[in-house]
Amino acid sequence: MYETSINERKLSEEALERQIVYIEKCKEKVREISEELGRPLKCCTQTFGCQMNARDSEKLLGILEQIGYLPTEDEKEADIVLYNTCTVRENANLRVYGRLGHLNTMKKKNPHMIIALCGCMMQEPDVVEKIRTSYKFVDIVFGTFNIFKLAELLYSRWNSNGQVIDIWEETKEIVEDLPTQRKYPFKSGVNIMFGCNNFCSYCIVPYVRGREKSREPKYIIREIERLVADGVKEVMLLGQNVNSYGKNLESPVSFAELLKEVEQIEGLERIRFMTPHPKDLSDDLIAVMRDSKKICNHMHLPVQSGSSRLLKLMNRRYTKEHYLELVEKIRHEIPDVSLTTDIIVGFPGETEEDFEDTLDVVRKAKFDSAYTFIYSKRTGTPAASMDDQVPEDVVKNRFDRLLETVHETAHAISNRYEGKILPVLVEDIDDHDSSMVTARMTNNILVHFPGGKELIGTVVDVYMDECKGFYYMGHRA
Ligand code: SF4
Repeated sequence: MYETSINERKLSEEALERQIVYIEKCKEKVREISEELGRPLKCCTQTFGCQMNARDSEKLLGILEQIGYLPTEDEKEADIVLYNTCTVRENANLRVYGRLGHLNTMKKKNPHMIIALCGCMMQEPDVVEKIRTSYKFVDIVFGTFNIFKLAELLYSRWNSNGQVIDIWEETKEIVEDLPTQRKYPFKSGVNIMFGCNNFCSYCIVPYVRGREKSREPKYIIREIERLVADGVKEVMLLGQNVNSYGKNLESPVSFAELLKEVEQIEGLERIRFMTPHPKDLSDDLIAVMRDSKKICNHMHLPVQSGSSRLLKLMNRRYTKEHYLELVEKIRHEIPDVSLTTDIIVGFPGETEEDFEDTLDVVRKAKFDSAYTFIYSKRTGTPAASMDDQVPEDVVKNRFDRLLETVHETAHAISNRYEGKILPVLVEDIDDHDSSMVTARMTNNILVHFPGGKELIGTVVDVYMDECKGFYYMGHRA
């Protein structure tokens, strides 16, 4: 049983102090190089994968900006390029290898350029070995547990002749209060915990993100209070399985209890969370969501498959019936909830009958949308060594039929907001029409309506004129 001991907190504070020292040292070095080149240095961070990675990247960019780099989206003009990688599917790895060649060409033109790789893919020993032997031009390699050490690793690289590789097996401490550079001024992800103990048989996350570790509620509340003071209206509470929040704290706190505390924060208008696991979603959580004025009426509830036989092989620890009962309970308590999900097609051994069960769940659960994936073999996971890998053409056929069923059922319920006036958080100018803005309802569905950039970051009431499938057109109420 892991406990957030006094010693751990001390370690976390010491770790932060140490990094502040290295940030100062790096600042000096950046000033030197910048004077030499007669221009400011620039940094480019690329994020692959999930919202957990996106939040980590905001911390990495925060550190680089503190050091004195100016952010750029263009790798060609960057003096440091940092990839925060994902490894949840094979093609995520292939994309990174594909891009490294380009970076090497750029580095030949700019010898000052630093290439750094971190994140889940770097937690795979065979990947690190490949980078060490075949991609010697990569300067820094670190993982998911020590992103806070970026300044120290950069300083080590400047003071050494070769690659700096620092991969940790596990998180030693959660370092709080790292500098952060948020992508959106009005909303932010907030990590409430790290790691996962579920070991779904197809998933590599527990092997690259380690064991579950929750942040103390007081640090989460303090972070959100600071975000609200800095203009944030909406937070997304992040964890691989938020239902497990708090179990490993000295005085355990449930996720439902944490939500109640977050709800009390003045000035915070919206609360979202990602991701609850169906196996241990509590009645308390449903009740807190029902009674809340701030928790958005959207729940992303990954089902992965509708077949109880496959769910067992996936080690998901719930059955088709359990999942549908949960959906019914949620819909009973929160009638206007928007449900979305994740579904894998082609898991080893999947039969036509199993697949029909998945389609059946989609029809019965009536999701507003679903992220659909073709099973990707991940070395090191139990499923990777399972027999009966499903033939590609069969998987492709099923994938197309699944998409069709998801679209059909989503379309049938999608226009239920037509003629209603709903509060929306304005997120950006519309990509296709600069006289329009794009906003998000509490149920996570997008709406476009006439408006200017002064509305961005505000919550306004909008009349839903017309449903266009997965989004709405509207006008200010
Ligand atoms: S709950 Fe399962 S699918 Fe989700 S991160 Fe954990 S092991 Fe992976």
